[in-house]
Amino acid sequence: RAKKQGKGCAVLFDAAMRTDALRRLQIQTDLRWAMEREEFQLYYQPIIELSTGKIAGFEALLRWEHPQKGFISPAEFIPVAEETGIIVALGEWVLREACRQLHVWKEKFISHSSLMMSVNLSSQQFTADLSQRIDQILRETHVLGRELKLEITETAIMADPQLAIATLNELKRREIKICIDDFGTGYCSLGYLHQFPVDILKIDRSFVNQMQASDKREIVRVIVELAESLRMDAIAEGIETKEQYFLLAQLNCKYGQGYFFSKPLHPNEAEQWLIGTRKVG
Ligand code: C2E
Ligand code: MG
Ligand code: MG
Ligand code: MG
Repeated sequence: RAKKQGKGCAVLFDAAMRTDALRRLQIQTDLRWAMEREEFQLYYQPIIELSTGKIAGFEALLRWEHPQKGFISPAEFIPVAEETGIIVALGEWVLREACRQLHVWKEKFISHSSLMMSVNLSSQQFTADLSQRIDQILRETHVLGRELKLEITETAIMADPQLAIATLNELKRREIKICIDDFGTGYCSLGYLHQFPVDILKIDRSFVNQMQASDKREIVRVIVELAESLRMDAIAEGIETKEQYFLLAQLNCKYGQGYFFSKPLHPNEAEQWLIGTRKVG
């Protein structure tokens, strides 16, 4: 009987694996057409200055509405886009679209003159010509380097630290802000960290959403203090409760984002934050 059950499990497991593999293959195929079919859209999550509760900027987050499968999470399709190399073209579209939107909002809401736009970057976009490509986009969209933040992971930097340092220095010359995303979850030697022209550490939400526990709170405190001593700012991601917000403000963490303030929003909804009808709390 045990044997029979075991075999049954094996069959089920096989079937599940096949379904996964098929879905992945489908995504891989459909990704090739998705850009020209205009199935991508950027959503924007507000980033809040914790001491004032005011909006400081947005993080652009990619959304894909598949014609049959509906919305597919970037956590699922970004890795596939990275494998196939499509991420380079897609990432460039994201940058251009996010900058275009930032410029539109700055023209429309002149009181938000210091609004920033954060854009996620894949390691594969980290090529020698990245800064020239960005120059082109900034020129086209009338956005200044200092209005842009690029989010990269520790893993992406550590894949080729020398290339990373050279590229990041190029970006810094344009006053573009560099942010290490999901900080604390990857591998980044502290020896390297101070060599990188990084401006912001973004504390991973796995630490933030367990801040009620004192050991996790200590990790957050240490990252905020590390940022401070390296003359960097800290952003906390994944703030879901008022308690987390207050604890982070107490620790002098400069910025935060998370469902407590707002989920990522369609551009029309995001505008409500700029009009001023949306407030923290
Ligand atoms: P990320 O850059 O760390 O983005 C934060 C993710 O956390 C987003 O998921 C966001 O919706 C989610 N989030 C924000 N606040 C909360 C919260 O309070 N609670 C919880 N549970 N989640 C929260 P999303 O949009 O699904 O994106 C997932 C990941 O996909 C991103 O993680 C990023 O690594 C990647 N990604 C998204 N857009 C792009 C893009 O344009 N280019 C690249 N290369 N990667 C992207
Ligand atoms: Mg990010
Ligand atoms: Mg993150
Ligand atoms: Mg994350």
